[in-house]
Amino acid sequence: MMVYKVACVGFGSANMLFIAYMASVAPSLLQQTVIIDPYFDNGALQRSWPRVRSNTTWEQFINSLRRFKATAAYAEQIAETHPQDEPTYLHVLAKSLREAISPYLRKIHTIKGHVCQLNNEEVVVSIKYKKSNGTEHIIQAEKVIFSPGSIPKTMSHSLPTIPFHVALDSRQLGDYVSPGERVVLFGLAHSGVLIIKNLVESQCFVSAVYNTEKPFLYARDGEYDGIKQDAAQIADDITAGKLENIELISWSSGEDVQDALLRADWVVYSIGFENNTPVLINNQSARNYEPEKALIAPNIYGFGIAYPSFSEVNGRKFWDVSIPSFTDHILNTNILSTVSSE
Ligand SMILES: Cc1cc2nc3c(=O)[nH]c(=O)nc-3n(C[C@H](O)[C@H](O)[C@H](O)COP(=O)(O)OP(=O)(O)OC[C@H]3O[C@@H](n4cnc5c(N)ncnc54)[C@H](O)[C@@H]3O)c2cc1C
Repeated sequence: MMVYKVACVGFGSANMLFIAYMASVAPSLLQQTVIIDPYFDNGALQRSWPRVRSNTTWEQFINSLRRFKATAAYAEQIAETHPQDEPTYLHVLAKSLREAISPYLRKIHTIKGHVCQLNNEEVVVSIKYKKSNGTEHIIQAEKVIFSPGSIPKTMSHSLPTIPFHVALDSRQLGDYVSPGERVVLFGLAHSGVLIIKNLVESQCFVSAVYNTEKPFLYARDGEYDGIKQDAAQIADDITAGKLENIELISWSSGEDVQDALLRADWVVYSIGFENNTPVLINNQSARNYEPEKALIAPNIYGFGIAYPSFSEVNGRKFWDVSIPSFTDHILNTNILSTVSSE
């Protein structure tokens, strides 16, 4: 059986950035690398929330690409044609990232499949995956980069739930809700604020529940991970009374939350993400993780929204989830530094 030097599980933003890194520091590994993903459609930014405008600007995206030798020329090329201080649609970011790495992608072996198990053997990791026809296969690699993405968290209220990706897409949302219906929204970070606007445009009445000191925490006020770009504008409009049919309820007012739920037709959760990995690692669920080394198990590394780095601000821990922070994480851990010299 051929042993790959590197196997990337998942083809979303994180592993696309990892390929940019590999092409920069150890290009000879590209031919001995495999990527496994069931879709190869550029991950969640393309598949799940393509019509959402990013909370990062073109400049932040381009600066991430500038940090890799392999994508620096592409970064300069697109820097000339895009408005640096503006955001863009998430599907555009996903496509641009893929375009940036496309010369290197051609050198890499790709497998359409769903990885279900990773096992450390003596010096290799064995990777079991399923194809869409149900057949199971095993390959081996010296190092695995496991970046399978995450799924939105939910709670268990008995009301019908609007899926998070539907709430973020005003066209799909109109197929779920009818004008005049009442919706309870949990979570007022970036995505939650965008969802309020979509609900109001669908003529719903929104009860928006927040669990922070104030409904809106802004990046411009120095809040780490505070809302910015479109979300900050919408929050300003809500505060100024320009958007109607919204009530803001603190999670600590239990009776108000209960009352809103009793009156509602729908609920939508925008309360963060959780690991979506029924993948077994050494016969256990993939829970262990050392962010500083990006290490999940020997020779198994994790990046992206499922395995991010974190920042500590005033004693609080914030998971860093964005293309610029994935770039930092990949460059800081520099896990190919040993492989490239072999
Ligand atoms: C609503 C929203 C808006 C965001 N906006 C921005 C933004 O504006 N700017 C920004 O920089 N970041 C943004 N992010 C953060 C981040 O960039 C995205 O979450 C990004 O999609 C994460 O990339 P990823 O590679 O970790 O995961 P994903 O993009 O989810 O990719 C994971 C891939 O792994 C595959 N996979 C899963 N399980 C398996 C398996 N068992 N075997 C094989 N393959 C598997 C999936 O099919 C998928 O293709 C946003 C996130 C969200 C949720």
